[in-house]
Amino acid sequence: MLKFSKVVLKKGKEDSILRFHPWIFSGAIDRIEGTVEEGDPVTVYTFDDRFLGIGHSAIGSIAVRIFSFEEIYPDFAFWCSKLKLAYDLRCKIGLTSRKETNVFRLIHGEGDGLPGLIVDYYNGTVVIQAHTVGMWLIRDLLAQAIKAVLNDQVKAIYDKSSKTLPYKAAIEPVDGYLFGEKTTFEVMEYGNRFLVDWEEGQKTGFFVDQRENRKLLSEYSFGKNVLNMFCYTGGFSFSAMQGGASLVHSVDSSAKAIELTNANVELNFPGDKRHEAFTADAFDFMRDIQDKYDLIILDPPAFAKHKNVLNQALQGYKKLNTKAFQQIRPGGILFTFSCSQVVTKTNFREAVFSAAAISKRKVRILHQLSQPGDHPINIYHPEGEYLKGLVLYVE
Ligand code: SAH
Repeated sequence: MLKFSKVVLKKGKEDSILRFHPWIFSGAIDRIEGTVEEGDPVTVYTFDDRFLGIGHSAIGSIAVRIFSFEEIYPDFAFWCSKLKLAYDLRCKIGLTSRKETNVFRLIHGEGDGLPGLIVDYYNGTVVIQAHTVGMWLIRDLLAQAIKAVLNDQVKAIYDKSSKTLPYKAAIEPVDGYLFGEKTTFEVMEYGNRFLVDWEEGQKTGFFVDQRENRKLLSEYSFGKNVLNMFCYTGGFSFSAMQGGASLVHSVDSSAKAIELTNANVELNFPGDKRHEAFTADAFDFMRDIQDKYDLIILDPPAFAKHKNVLNQALQGYKKLNTKAFQQIRPGGILFTFSCSQVVTKTNFREAVFSAAAISKRKVRILHQLSQPGDHPINIYHPEGEYLKGLVLYVE
């Protein structure tokens, strides 16, 4: 085995790693033997020289992210085996063979034992998003591994890491194709067609994580007037239309998102007059919607990306949900979400609870939603649970 620089932990700091938590915080490190550049693989040892894992080093409070708790050399065969494990999971949960769905998440960071790496599959095009320099440096190797595992199911691989890499990293990432070229932007989810722009769009181009929640929404939509707030590419909107909604209003502050929503609605329901889209700020739009809607979806962006803005974010959720509770029609249904990792399930529920109390409406929880199986949560890394949703019945 080739020798990597060695990170030695302080006495007593090994417990969480022995329980397979993949993060080493900088404060846990006693010393580093050898030189380390950001993104280099390093081996991690206890104070008394017991091997703990091998991971990518980073600058910041999380100094190492472990990708193997076994003493291996991370060569091509190793990355192929990791990719294969992830792909097998998607096969087992039936995502790779569905006719009506050809988009899924292939790698979900820590949830797949690959911290710092997100990979989405879009009907033949694979989009890689590295969140660490370590993963970005091996992007070509990862692309080869993806090709080896997916074979002819992959026509192109696009690297879209320029916006997700740490801004202080001394690299100059440029997005582009690692393999193949731009093909169709069209994908399908439960029979609904989407135009996904992975080159210019948000995240990897699409919010794959709301698939099952969009499906649930369609079951609740018949005969309803629906407001889809924070619509992005309009997924919840045409799920509602598919479910027989009477009227659907989509709102997003981004004009580009509204353009995509209109294009997607047109693709699925050409000329359908039930739908209208508005470019507007959520807080402005919701100031005075009165009792126009009996089904409201609130799926805002991550209000809190860091712990120090948590309170501010919770106030945001409270304010938004209060507006919905105050105005939704009696007997209305609210689908409300938080995708902030730092907001816990309890935090979110408390914010929604406060909003309900302010509105003085009677509210009952019908469903507690989370992320789907292709966004698995590593049981040893509970931080991976980020998507929280409540479906509420408002009397
Ligand atoms: N529900 C979507 C994903 C929502 S992502 C889906 O199923 O695909 C969050 C969206 O909120 C983004 O499109 C962003 O443009 C929009 N947004 C952010 N701030 C906003 C604001 N203040 N008012 C309205 N939309 C906002």
